[in-house]
Order: sequence, then C-alpha cells, then structure tokens
Amino acid sequence: TPRGAGGGGKRRLGVMGGTFDPIHHGHLVAASEVAAAFHLDEVVFVPTGEPWQKSHRTVSPAEDRYLMTVIATAENPQFSVSRIDIDRGGPTYTVDTLRDLRALNPDTDLFFITGADALAQILTWRDTEELFSLAHFIGVTRPGHHLDDPGLPEGIVSLVEVPALAISSTDCRARVAKGDPIWYLVPDGVVRYITKRELYRGE
Ligand code: ATP
Ligand code: MG
Repeated sequence: TPRGAGGGGKRRLGVMGGTFDPIHHGHLVAASEVAAAFHLDEVVFVPTGEPWQKSHRTVSPAEDRYLMTVIATAENPQFSVSRIDIDRGGPTYTVDTLRDLRALNPDTDLFFITGADALAQILTWRDTEELFSLAHFIGVTRPGHHLDDPGLPEGIVSLVEVPALAISSTDCRARVAKGDPIWYLVPDGVVRYITKRELYRGE
C-alpha cells in the first residue's frame, strides 16, 4: 500500500503528546488538521506519565487520562493511543517519547504536534538537538497564544493555522468543579466518563 500523500515514501506518523486531563476538541482538531496538511498516515496520542511541568497541581490518574484519550479517539481509524510514557513511569521528557517511538516504528518519519504555548517553551526543553533530529516539529495556533517562529534553523519547525478553539483542559476542569457543562467542549463519551469517575469535582 502506498504510504503518505505521494505514496511510496516512508510512513508518516504524527505524535500528539499531552496531559489530556481531559482530552478536548482543541487537541482533536489540531491532530486532524495536521494529519491532513502533512499527509500523515496516523496520529498517535501519547498521554504523559507524571508531568514535570505540572507538579504544582494534582494530575488525574494516568489510567483515567489514558482511557479518556482512547474514548475520544476510538472512532477515528487514523488515530491511536500509546501507553509508552505512562508505562515508562516518572516524569515525561519528550525526547524519551520520541526515542521510544522511533525504536518502535522503523522506517517512519515522526511529526511532533504541539500547540503555540508549548512551542514557545521548546527551547527550554531538554536535549533539543537530539529532539530535532528525532522528529519534525509542527506548531499549531491556539487562541490566547502567539505562534511565533522560535528562530530555529529552516525546516525544523513548521507553523500551522488550525480553526481556533478556545478550549483548555484547565477550563474544562474548572467548569466541572463549578457544575458548569462541558458538553461539546469534549467528546460525549469523555463527558460521561468524567461523570462516572467523578473527576474534577473537588478542584
Ligand atoms: P492544561 O490546561 O491542563 O495545560 P491543555 O488544554 O493545555 O491542558 P495539554 O494536555 O496541556 O492541554 O496539551 C497538549 C497539547 O495540545 C499541547 O501541545 C497544547 O499546546 C495543545 N493544545 C491544547 N489545547 C489546544 C487548543 N485549543 N488548540 C490547539 N492546540 C491545543
Ligand atoms: Mg497545557
């Protein structure tokens, strides 16, 4: 079977890392838009283990974040979910995610998808040189954040404008805590899962 847009080339795998606490339509639209624009064969969502950026708040159990991500992506044949960061244990570093995905996916080009806010921090990440050798980075627009070219050498980062969805997991959690609805901000199955597991109630 031909792979990628032109066929015949290497398999093209998008990587969408995130805490996904909870996953919402902003994540899904970003992945879908980048998949189309970059002719990706698949996008794998990778929920973090213990996220070191968020050590100031309690993150929901990895298993809940993993299951919500599965529920949200299950119907899309181009989307999958990986447990690598959860199963590795400890804080997640993107360089480890990409190293592991590279080892698991020979003959595959990786495209790491990241929102404007995360891209802005890119240069503060660990092992940036190795990072950029492992994957092409794609920064997507996000309301409330400027999507600037971080001034990296040509070809390392691409910037993509996606339909603006002013949704964040932080806002979803705050809404649940206040008793406000999150219908249509996250997939229906995720709303029901949050209710069933009583997530975000006491925040
Ligand atoms: P939190 O508020 O807890 O930080 P979040 O909504 O930012 O949650 P994350 O899991 O932190 O979600 O984000 C994972 C990735 O998705 C990041 O690269 C982030 O920039 C991107 N992203 C999140 N929301 C959007 C959105 N509405 N539009 C585009 N990209 C997004
Ligand atoms: Mg975030």
